[in-house]
Amino acid sequence: MKVNRRDFLKGMAVAGTAAMLTDLTVFSENDGPVNERDRPYDQWRIDGAEWVMVIDLAACDGCVDLDIPRCTNACIVGHYTPDDHLYLKVFEVHENEYSNTVYFPRPCQQCEDPPCAHVCPVSAAWQRDGDRLTLIDHTRCIGCRLCQAACPYEVRHFHFEENPKGDDIPDDKFEAQMPFTLFRGKGVTAKCEFCGLQFIGQLPHCVSACHNGALYFGDKNENAVTNAFGTTEVFTDLLARREAFRWKEEEGTKPRVFYLPASSSGNHGHGGNA
Ligand code: SF4
Ligand code: SF4
Ligand code: SF4
Repeated sequence: MKVNRRDFLKGMAVAGTAAMLTDLTVFSENDGPVNERDRPYDQWRIDGAEWVMVIDLAACDGCVDLDIPRCTNACIVGHYTPDDHLYLKVFEVHENEYSNTVYFPRPCQQCEDPPCAHVCPVSAAWQRDGDRLTLIDHTRCIGCRLCQAACPYEVRHFHFEENPKGDDIPDDKFEAQMPFTLFRGKGVTAKCEFCGLQFIGQLPHCVSACHNGALYFGDKNENAVTNAFGTTEVFTDLLARREAFRWKEEEGTKPRVFYLPASSSGNHGHGGNA
């Protein structure tokens, strides 16, 4: 089932039918062709969207009042991940010994040109047709970890053990997340997927949880991003005004995560300089 991207954040009824699914065949050298119809994530895909995250480093305070940052914890709780598999880590960064501390949240950068997908021999790491989200098909992952080695941002984890929280997942969540959780067990890689199964009508868990509104999420093609306060910004204006940058631009991966510097001439962040 698919919906028009205009339904995003409006909580409107899901539209479309399975018959609308494209018949695109994805090449897989080792394990035969993969038909997009058989992919596990298609039911909540929004064709034509291009999801982006904007992270305001001036507004992020690292949630130093807590053991686990709110965004990180919301992701753990929302996805029933093992506590040591953090899809979003917050790093403490010091440019030099005299500089202020900057807190740097790191989700999957959702690269436009993702090396992880290029190296996967069985198309388990792949970019979804329709919205180009980079996802993991855990039903196909053979645990070779080539994707993990190829990712310049080190955001992929390998599951050496079964997910200890597997038994805690309520039936309705389990159903909704299949096979996101069902097959995310021992011997596969996992990572942030921009809440790829859940964000119709809502923001990703981490974005909603940020008490400073430091995280924004939206559709680049709608040219709008929204934070936990419900503040919606014109995406391109925000990037220009705050002199946004992408991490490791030199890698050529074209991340869809954009960082707003902790200090810049056009800084109007919610939380002041870090
Ligand atoms: S992004 Fe928000 S929730 Fe995450 S560490 Fe920064 S202030 Fe806390
Ligand atoms: S950040 Fe890493 S895991 Fe995410 S899309 Fe880019 S290469 Fe793949
Ligand atoms: S977008 Fe979703 S999966 Fe990614 S870090 Fe945020 S809560 Fe976790």
